[in-house]
Amino acid sequence: MKIMYDVIIVGAGPTGLAAGIYSAFFGLRTLILESNKKAGGRVLKARTIVNYPGFPEKVTGHKLVAKMVHQAEEAGAELHTSEEVVNLSCKKRKCVETKRDVYYSNALILASGAGMTGLDLQGATWIGDGVAYCRECNEPLIREMDIIVIGNTERAVDEAIYLSKIATHVRLVNYANLITMGTKVKEKLKKNGVELIEDFVGEAVKGEPPHKQLVLRHLRSSELRKLKTNIVLVISPVVPFVSVLRRAGIATHRAGCVIVDEFGRTNVEGVFAAGSCASVMKDIIPSCVGDGTTVAACACLYVKHKT
Ligand SMILES: Cc1cc2nc3c(=O)[nH]c(=O)nc-3n(C[C@H](O)[C@H](O)[C@H](O)COP(=O)(O)OP(=O)(O)OC[C@H]3O[C@@H](n4cnc5c(N)ncnc54)[C@H](O)[C@@H]3O)c2cc1C
Repeated sequence: MKIMYDVIIVGAGPTGLAAGIYSAFFGLRTLILESNKKAGGRVLKARTIVNYPGFPEKVTGHKLVAKMVHQAEEAGAELHTSEEVVNLSCKKRKCVETKRDVYYSNALILASGAGMTGLDLQGATWIGDGVAYCRECNEPLIREMDIIVIGNTERAVDEAIYLSKIATHVRLVNYANLITMGTKVKEKLKKNGVELIEDFVGEAVKGEPPHKQLVLRHLRSSELRKLKTNIVLVISPVVPFVSVLRRAGIATHRAGCVIVDEFGRTNVEGVFAAGSCASVMKDIIPSCVGDGTTVAACACLYVKHKT
């Protein structure tokens, strides 16, 4: 006899774990399915987190998610790792298929997160202090520093200009030369004192903070350039993992995120989405945790009133 869950959560990043904690708190039979061997999502890649409320002393990604996993399991949520959701069927009863089993629930919370793409940085050693992937997450560490921003999107340009107000020196490496840098954009960068480095790709980051060295390689000639800096900020496009969801008829924006209303409801009844799969603007841990919590409360109301 198959168990009927009240809520199944797809993904055990901070969004899915927060949703799991609250869903179990509300007394709902809750299952969290995670494709990776370890729960935690991209937080596992964060070495030092300085922006999570309640941890002024800083915390590693591993430690923070270990606490969230513990709290979710203590609250009564079941967590299955190494279970990638490969198919969804979202009629009144939701059917969730993994490579190992099939599960059923009244409501679904999608918290499948996002990945970073477009970083063709072969041979680079992007691990260690002095390399950041998110300005908002590291702003206190970035102020009054020499910064090199790497990125080929409009967001990278915006970040470089923003940083020019708070950093001592900002350089922007437009590594794939993909922005059709109109004269206006270039002038704006210049006006704000941002030095633009075109046609180079990041090769490696060396040294200990605050004395980092970024090695760049020219796209065509293979010439190497070594730049001294304090912080390398990598701005890469964030792309939500939504292919399984789309196949199940869940609507997404052109940019890729699941379309949700203020309660996290998707276009399919009983299916909710939260965190970075629903908005790349929410792609920081505190926002994801808040979003997962809100959506769990809305899913709880749905389960208690509608089923
Ligand atoms: C190197 C790095 C450093 C960072 N540092 C910080 C920081 O200091 N502070 C900060 O606030 N933010 C930081 N971030 C951003 C933060 O990690 C993300 O905002 C956050 O993890 C997003 O949470 P999420 O739960 O929405 O998605 P994710 O963390 O991406 O988690 C989604 C989970 O869903 C799983 N999943 C996907 N598809 C399926 C499927 N089909 N079946 C089952 N499971 C599935 C994935 O395996 C993943 O575990 C950092 C990110 C990176 C990459």
